[in-house]
Amino acid sequence: MEQQFTLSTRARTQFIEITERVQEAVRGSGIRSGVARVFVPHTTAGVTINENADPSVVRDILATLDRLVPQDGSYDHSEGNSPAHVKASLMGFCQTVFVEQGKLLLGTWQGIYLCEFDGPRTRRVVVRVDSDER
Ligand code: ZN
Repeated sequence: MEQQFTLSTRARTQFIEITERVQEAVRGSGIRSGVARVFVPHTTAGVTINENADPSVVRDILATLDRLVPQDGSYDHSEGNSPAHVKASLMGFCQTVFVEQGKLLLGTWQGIYLCEFDGPRTRRVVVRVDSDER
């Protein structure tokens, strides 16, 4: 069972929480027990799971990525957005979350984030839910 949604990012780099959108997709699938995979089909945006209680955590992650992958560093890629490609690969393009009783089995402080590194743009998120039940 595969579903998609799109969202518009508003800044060059930004984390947008998509936990509720993913949970909606799980609900829409009708699957009570299984695995949800969240895939971002882009090369300069990724997906990660981290704390959604204190927004300073996301700010720290973005600031740390900026230090690791400087915007004004030396890169070959002629399009000029190599930092975005590198950061997206560091975050990854797919996350897996177990589903139990129709709900994402996330920790109390966990949220799922689309990670924009070359915005603002429209981004697509693909959610696939597979059932454990046979
Ligand atoms: Zn590029």
